[in-house]
Amino acid sequence: MPSNEVGREQKSRRFKDGVLRQAIVKVAQRCNLDCTYCYVYNRGDSSWANRPPVISERVIRRLSERITEHCRKFGFDSFTIELHGGEPLLVGHRHMRRILEILRATENVTIHFVLQTNGLLLDRAWVELFDEFEVCFGLSIDGPPEIADRRRVMRQDGSGSTEQLLAVISGLRRDVPEFRSVFGGCLCVIDPIANGAEIVDWFVKQGFSEFDLLLPNGNRANLPDEWQGPEPYRRFLLEAFERWYGLGEAAPRIRMLETMMTGLLGGDVYLDSLGGDLQMLCVIESDGSIGLSDVTRLCGGDCSHDRLNIFEHELSLHASDYEVMNLQTLCSTCASCPNLSACGGGYLPHRFDGQGFSNPSLYCDALFALADRMRTVIRRDLPEKLLCKLEE
Ligand code: SF4
Ligand code: SF4
Repeated sequence: MPSNEVGREQKSRRFKDGVLRQAIVKVAQRCNLDCTYCYVYNRGDSSWANRPPVISERVIRRLSERITEHCRKFGFDSFTIELHGGEPLLVGHRHMRRILEILRATENVTIHFVLQTNGLLLDRAWVELFDEFEVCFGLSIDGPPEIADRRRVMRQDGSGSTEQLLAVISGLRRDVPEFRSVFGGCLCVIDPIANGAEIVDWFVKQGFSEFDLLLPNGNRANLPDEWQGPEPYRRFLLEAFERWYGLGEAAPRIRMLETMMTGLLGGDVYLDSLGGDLQMLCVIESDGSIGLSDVTRLCGGDCSHDRLNIFEHELSLHASDYEVMNLQTLCSTCASCPNLSACGGGYLPHRFDGQGFSNPSLYCDALFALADRMRTVIRRDLPEKLLCKLEE
């Protein structure tokens, strides 16, 4: 198969029908942490400062109406809401209950709730509330304190936050039975000073059986802190992969690695960090603005305009207004890359070069090497008759 046809086929596996199915809702615009890599506060965008610190019931009610309208138009009976910040728990238990009640009452639509938190404010009441409304929550934690505290620091005094978080988690696991049913897993931003295998071991030792590894947000025009090129990330990812794969049946679920393997084996890949379709996802800010994927705000310019809002516009307009299909069209290097099925060209904001997105990811070398290693392992370990899906 000529390489450009491979590109088209892979692309279709990431682009279901281009219709919005999920909104990230910024219920709080402030945070009790000040992570050095945070795309909200520390990568050049300051739009959060001009928005209400906490989303109002009025905005949530309008959002609920917009979801009904959107789902009626496209024939959906369910929609996913990701409650996000800043730190979403800063809205407090009472207001969060109102948010969940209003959204749950969305006419003719079942809302699936997920929430991402730094976990420091979690307590029994939060877990019970999540259990009541079936909110699956994820924790942000970057590994052991000696690694994570380099960057995940308290806003108040710059001190580390990880010991405190681990104490909160251990107390909830011990005392609140519902914790296990509502806890979805962890997000870990890679710090390339760490050893990837040791990070995998640490998560397993802490009893975290599901997590994801995230590449720090940045691009050629807005480099991640301490950037020394993609090599340290290549090393980290290969170390993590070897350890994960070597654990066999005892391996934790690591979304990035599982998804890339799935892509190589011919499966569908919808993960936004691996080239998933950003038409299917929008952001609702606390003032009701409808945004493109929030991480793209670090690219500035037209990616972070506020022309749309839920009081005047339908949700689906975000795809045409931001020209999402145009933005995410792959460059010729990615379109003909033998590892496109695993990598997808990487995360859209990581492709930006100050002018546009028609470039390989800033992390291309690392992603390419990881996919190559996965391909070798698959060839080595899978029976010949199952290898037909592996892209050549
Ligand atoms: S916890 Fe999340 S929102 Fe808060 S500073 Fe850290 S990365 Fe940003
Ligand atoms: S970013 Fe690199 S590895 Fe990924 S598809 Fe593009 S060229 Fe291939």
